[in-house]
Amino acid sequence: MYDQNNIFAKILRGEIPAKKIAQGQHYLSFYDIAPKAPVHALVIPTGAYQNAHDFSDKAPLEEIAGFYKGVNATLEVLGLKESGYRLIANTGTHGHQDVPHFHVHILGGKDLGQMVVMS
Ligand code: AMP
Repeated sequence: MYDQNNIFAKILRGEIPAKKIAQGQHYLSFYDIAPKAPVHALVIPTGAYQNAHDFSDKAPLEEIAGFYKGVNATLEVLGLKESGYRLIANTGTHGHQDVPHFHVHILGGKDLGQMVVMS
């Protein structure tokens, strides 16, 4: 069940502020409040979806396309396309998702090292 009071739902409703980067009908992007890299942005769909698979399961194709075009528009504004970046969608318990509204992290601005490794 989607929690209407999660922090990103409040940002979408304008109830709490966010440092916005770009927005469109189907997405909003803004800077992460606790950056883990020199550039750390979040892109969220404007619709109410809990996580990556909930979004893919339930969102109409137009919303899915609009969201990923929003990721692309955000990368463009941030100027990360040439140097590179990492997209992360933490999901559920094992993925350590804290905010239950689907979001993609964009990390960049330095060499991020290799992918997460098995320990
Ligand atoms: P996740 O663990 O993937 O759910 O990540 C949630 C992210 O949201 C974390 O990186 C937080 O720093 C970030 N965050 C939490 N509250 C806010 C906020 N009010 N504005 C911007 N980013 C936030």
